This record gives sequence, C-alpha cells and structure tokens, in this order.
Amino acid sequence: MTTDDVLRLLLACADDTGRVFDHAESESWPPGALHEFAHAGLIRAMQTALTAPCPNCADRHIEAVTPVGNPPDARYFIWCPESLRVEVTAEMCRGWEVDREGLACLVSSALGLTTAPREVVADRLWRLGRGRWRDGTREVVLAARLAEDDASVIVCHIGTGGRTVVFTPHGVPDVRIWPGRAPAVISLSSIAVWTGTALALDASAILEHVVEADRQAEQAGGVPLDARGKRLVRTQVKAEIKGLFKDDDLIAAYRVHLSYTKAAEALSKERGTKVSRDKVSRAVKRAGGPKAVLRNDDSGSVARSVASQRRDRPKKIDQYRK
Ligand SMILES: [Zn+2]
Repeated sequence: MTTDDVLRLLLACADDTGRVFDHAESESWPPGALHEFAHAGLIRAMQTALTAPCPNCADRHIEAVTPVGNPPDARYFIWCPESLRVEVTAEMCRGWEVDREGLACLVSSALGLTTAPREVVADRLWRLGRGRWRDGTREVVLAARLAEDDASVIVCHIGTGGRTVVFTPHGVPDVRIWPGRAPAVISLSSIAVWTGTALALDASAILEHVVEADRQAEQAGGVPLDARGKRLVRTQVKAEIKGLFKDDDLIAAYRVHLSYTKAAEALSKERGTKVSRDKVSRAVKRAGGPKAVLRNDDSGSVARSVASQRRDRPKKIDQYRK
C-alpha cells in the first residue's frame, strides 16, 4: 500500500459515514503516513475509539478496551480468549477518522484560494471561494456524501447556472441530481496526489472537466430545467413558432407592398416579431423571382399541389405492391 493508496482510501471514506481507522488498519499504511495525514489535518483522532487489536494473537482480533485510571496515568486492557486480560498501549486504542473540514482546507490551499472555507451545510458542503477562470471567476465548493438520499437538499445550495466547480471526495452523483444546468463535478480521488505535507491537484484535469461540463450543458440546449428555466423554454418556443412563416405569407405580403423591405416591416408589425427583408426576398426567389410571383398569383400553390402529388405517388405504388 502506497501513501497515495491511503489517500484514495481516505477520500473514499470521506464520502461515507462512520469509517474509523484503528491501529490494526493504520499499521498496514506506509511508515509515517498516519503522522503525515494527521499533521496535515486530513484525519483526526477519535475522542472515543475504545477498541484495540490483541498484541498476543496472530489474528490480531479486535476487542473493546477497558481503561483503568485516568490519563495520563491510565492503563488500557482488552479481554483475550487465549491470554485473558492483555494490556495494550494508548496508541493502539486510538482510532482515526477523516476530517472533512480539514479536507476542505487542503483543497482550498491546493487551488491557491486565499479565503478560508466556509461551511454551508454541517460536515457536507463548503464554499471554498472564487477561482480565477478564463471567462471570469467561478465559485468552487467541496460537497461530500452526494450519493446519500438527502443529496438533493445539499445541491440546492449550489447555484443552478452550472458555472460552479464542485469537488467531491470520491463519488460523482448522477447528473439528474442538479436542479439546473449540471456543473463540473470533479472527484478528488481521480485528480489528487499526496506530496507528504499537502494535496496536489492535476490542474489540466480540472480544466478538462470544466470544459467538458460546459460543452455538455451547451449540447443539452444550455437550458436549466428548474421552474425559471421551463418558463424560458416556453418563451423561446413561442418566439420560434411566431418566427415561422410559410413562403405563402411572405409572398402574399410582397404582392401587396411590392417591396421586400416594406413587406418585411408589415409582417414584423403584424406578428410582433422581427422578419428580415432577406427572409421575404428568399421566399420570393424560391417561387421563381418577383416577375413569376406577380405574373400569376396562383403559381405557387399550383406548383406545390403538383409536387405533393408526385411525392405521394411512390407511396401509393408501395401500397399496391403489398
Ligand atoms: Zn488474543
């Protein structure tokens, strides 16, 4: 097990609850790792971790500890089926747990953010500050345990605009959890390494995640799905429907006004949406140009009815064949 393996284990545990590392487990870590992580604030000693492995048995069975006396003179004992009462050291009794607040501080330092992390939801969500980005600044947060049932309550504190950069210790939640545009969500497990005293983050990987999140949001229409977003979609669709003109309408306006510009102005006024001069001119050209349009008022509709008959023909033949 390398120190980075331990780091990944700690990050995975930061996304979980009730994980305690006792002496038996931390013994398998590389020498000095426990001290490094504790000193950096990523793990902290538990106040009441009263279990210890048996020092006399090969299977190192874990037993509850009975303290005798008061610190610093206290002695600690476990009950062993083989050796009966066995004394263990205080060090062996101590359990460790991940300190999420400490993790927030480490991420903040690794990103070079100058403000101290601010806890938004107790032990779950921290605002780390604003990071400089090529198109301005972006808010950076650390959110833990987003796989849990109450995660939607946590993510409500993160804006719906999709511009926040969200770090999670390990797990990345389903994209549908976000009430608006999905922000960039980056698992620290995949981009963090341990320097011996601090976290180091892969800056280019962070950049890729943010660019990719932006791209996916744009591909999805860039439209948030919250109530405000839905209103926005309805407004856009209405505007698009209004903007749809059949060539007939454009040609009819041209016949009345005998000018692309005047026809466009009249249609814009009538429909309450901008119709360009070019739109009218393109419709007239499609119908054979101004002369053809003015020569025969019915030419357009006649041509279309012929075309539709032609389109229908192969279908009818197919029906006979069946
Ligand atoms: Zn034993």
